[in-house]
Amino acid sequence: MMKVDKEKCIGCGACVSLCPNTFDMKDGKSVVISDTDCDEALTACPVGAIVQVE
Ligand code: SF4
Repeated sequence: MMKVDKEKCIGCGACVSLCPNTFDMKDGKSVVISDTDCDEALTACPVGAIVQVE
């Protein structure tokens, strides 16, 4: 599944736009809301805040 590094996330919303089933915004940061993978967001995140974990 995906994981978001809250320290790195700048809240741009790109991951939520690309994969609304995987990410949601909470308090200006992205949070993972399901274990559905989203490779597009992995490469789209401008600050590399998204990582894939087992
Ligand atoms: S794309 Fe990256 S910086 Fe933008 S909201 Fe998602 S995790 Fe945060």
